[in-house]
Amino acid sequence: MTWHAAIATIMPDMFPGPLGHSLSGRALDQGLWTLSAIDMRDFATDRHKSVDDTPAGGGAGMVMRPDIVAAGVDAASALVPDAPQIYLSPRGEPLTQVLAHELAAGPGVMLLCGRFEGVDQRVIDARELREVSIGDYVLSGGEMAAYVLLDAVVRLLPGVIGAASSLDEESFENGLLEYPQYTRPRAWEGHSIPDVLLSGDHKKIAAWRRAQSETLTRTRRPDLINGKKALPTT
Ligand code: SAM
Repeated sequence: MTWHAAIATIMPDMFPGPLGHSLSGRALDQGLWTLSAIDMRDFATDRHKSVDDTPAGGGAGMVMRPDIVAAGVDAASALVPDAPQIYLSPRGEPLTQVLAHELAAGPGVMLLCGRFEGVDQRVIDARELREVSIGDYVLSGGEMAAYVLLDAVVRLLPGVIGAASSLDEESFENGLLEYPQYTRPRAWEGHSIPDVLLSGDHKKIAAWRRAQSETLTRTRRPDLINGKKALPTT
């Protein structure tokens, strides 16, 4: 079965959006993955198609109603019944390359995109939604987070990237950041490509790259070395 992304949103026109371009867009055209966007407003019960209401206990903003969100989530989940059900949320576990591999290995994903101040807690609890964050900042809606998650996952699906080895050496694949990359021209604005990369000695090149990766990771992201997690094989 083709890997499927079912998205519960109040802005279905935002999809596929940027996912319809470049690598993910070509893969979508080729049928390597499929996408459907469920409009949660279709489940609204008033003539204004409202999906939100004032927060219990007072405070600023509006909260998405559990009855309407649950109906949207159920409709989206029915399209990918055995897939993880995710609520994109700044409070969630961080999106990592490990999670991207985990999702790519499954049948697809159901993504709930919040708006306003977020969704009523009862729907998160009742549907046992897994909360996933794309970073420590607040977006105005989950749709942008869905783009990010899906882009990270779709490029891992079989057949989407030609040479699988180009994935193996990327940042996070082995718990390290990627080494610096160079291409022609050989000299540019007085800066040359490191000699070792032009030596043709593949062992030396691999050792140089590994050392660069380790230094970069130690300096910029020591947390990756300390909290190393194994990637599942997809
Ligand atoms: N009041 C919420 C809070 O403080 O945690 C923020 C709500 S935000 C304005 C609206 C929606 O954007 C959220 O329901 C969520 O779906 C999405 N969102 C915002 N930041 C996100 C992030 N870092 N990762 C994933 N989704 C995010």
